[in-house]
Amino acid sequence: MRRTAALLMMAALVAGCTDAPSAERPGSSPPASPSSPSASTPAPVVPDPPTPRVSPDDVRVGTATAAVRHLADRVGPRPGTSPAYFRAAAWVQRRFQELGWQVERQRFPTPAGYSWNGPVDAGPSVNVLATRGDVRPGEPWLVVGAHLDTVVGSPGAEDNASGVGVLLAVAEALAGRRTRLPVVLVAFGSEEPRGQGDAHHHYGSRAYVAALTLAQRRSVRGMVSLDRVGVGAAVPVGSPGDDLDRPTRRVLAAARRAGVPTLPETGQRSSDHWSFARDGMPGVRLGSTPYAGYHSAGDVPAVVEADQLERTARVVLAWLR
Ligand SMILES: [Zn+2]
Repeated sequence: MRRTAALLMMAALVAGCTDAPSAERPGSSPPASPSSPSASTPAPVVPDPPTPRVSPDDVRVGTATAAVRHLADRVGPRPGTSPAYFRAAAWVQRRFQELGWQVERQRFPTPAGYSWNGPVDAGPSVNVLATRGDVRPGEPWLVVGAHLDTVVGSPGAEDNASGVGVLLAVAEALAGRRTRLPVVLVAFGSEEPRGQGDAHHHYGSRAYVAALTLAQRRSVRGMVSLDRVGVGAAVPVGSPGDDLDRPTRRVLAAARRAGVPTLPETGQRSSDHWSFARDGMPGVRLGSTPYAGYHSAGDVPAVVEADQLERTARVVLAWLR
């Protein structure tokens, strides 16, 4: 599981030749001509305009709703080790790349088990990681993730094409925009449980965390998991601890700045942020409003509300800004 380390190294190597959004490039003054009469007529230095910071208003919710329809209606149920899951992963990878992100896949094993409505086979699954080439080893960065798999027999529109849709809308909004820190976007495989307890849940995010070096863990300054983010009129913001920890309060403050109503929660450990938080990193969950079609064939796009997807994306962008 050194793929992430390789990604970070690759990101560092290519950063110099990509359009790193926050790079302060020197002004494009021409080289002095040896025959010019010099100092009396210095060439004017015209600095490049600074890259604007991302704004919650940059979100295009149609990107998220299109992803919900594609994943739920066209791909359908996609347990983390199924052929349908790999079709979904290939689609998300293409979308990231079309939006200008550099993608790497991280494979990991998932055991057989029982996934809510039926048995599932053991096999490999994959996380899809997207960066902009600006993550450097040992320097702070942020993670936004959403699980791409479903339980058996559910098209997973709300759980969790909604989260993946918001993830893609965030990827799109960040094009040509600056964030406060470099960002890694991750579509996680095999989040859904295959048995009881932490050891049978969140396989993709646990594989991601397991691949991080100690220095990388220290430099993760925040992780937000988008999980069931298309139902409700206020965005649940879940702290994994028994109180609203600092990372959660920071997300709540971002929501206030974005003008989005929230429902603060404590003891929220039922998504990929918990893989980070239980290893000492800051992890927060957005989403979790109960709904009728949960983990069933009734989890179809009609369940998902565009307004709630937009609220969630606005919170993420305000947090990244
Ligand atoms: Zn979920």
